[in-house]
Amino acid sequence: MNDACLYSDACLYIVATPIGNLEDITSRAVKILQSVDVIAAEDTRHTARLLNHLGIRKPMLACHEHNERDRSAQIIAKMAVGESVALVSDAGTPLISDPGYFLVASVREAGYRVAPIPGACALIAALSVSGLPSDRFFFEGFLPAKSVARRKRFQALSGFEHTWIVYESSHRIEESLSDMAEVLGVERGIVIARELTKLFETVLAGTVGECLERLQSDANQKKGEFVVLVRGAQPLSALDGIDESAARVMGVLMEELSLKQASHLTARISGGKKKALYDYGLSLKRKESE
Ligand code: SAM
Repeated sequence: MNDACLYSDACLYIVATPIGNLEDITSRAVKILQSVDVIAAEDTRHTARLLNHLGIRKPMLACHEHNERDRSAQIIAKMAVGESVALVSDAGTPLISDPGYFLVASVREAGYRVAPIPGACALIAALSVSGLPSDRFFFEGFLPAKSVARRKRFQALSGFEHTWIVYESSHRIEESLSDMAEVLGVERGIVIARELTKLFETVLAGTVGECLERLQSDANQKKGEFVVLVRGAQPLSALDGIDESAARVMGVLMEELSLKQASHLTARISGGKKKALYDYGLSLKRKESE
């Protein structure tokens, strides 16, 4: 941190904006947008509509993926003379599948304060209504545009045991679900959250096969913006009928002993079946070597 920063009140505010419904902005976000010296926006014309709706007039600076490096230097220069800046994206929380990472890292590196003004985020909104386990989850962001690369990602995520989440657009949702059906199987549970907070908000829950069929039979279901949430894979221990504590013991013993010794001892400790534990150990080893 340099000395100038120590005495500076300048702050970069990362301000979440609505993902559809314009009412979904916090009063703190509005106050911050009113008070900063400049608003850095992913698309200034898009943000102008929001500011207009809020009755805010402020100088704006375009800050998107193609000019973020140059803009970061300019924003730091502004902060050096005590100015505060708000970063907004077109929708939701900046940096979440949106520009801003380089700017935040640079401003922090330069020693200035960066403060979050939290609010809407499509993946969190979708997870909160999905009915899928939400204690742990993984956010994949946007999938690759090409089918081969997309299938590879699905393959890599297929054994993940917690809910995972992707962003998808209207022109690829059907292809993506078809790839999902191929790689994960038509029976895997998913939830498709479409147009959240907007007029045509829908939350479809079912198997990949059922949801794909619904999309193919109703063209309206392919329109808009999507969050797709995938139910995590069944744990290997559940597939082999092993209870959770025995699976844990087995995992620890396998680090030190042969599979045969580990399953023998785990059976004695847990009262579980030696053969089932041995098979579970085998599937763990197979998964490790994949
Ligand atoms: N920063 C945003 C956030 O906090 O969620 C995400 C921006 S990313 C460029 C846009 C993607 O987010 C869309 O393609 C869609 O997958 C998802 N998304 C944004 N708004 C949504 C909405 N209202 N309903 C469903 N998905 C949405």
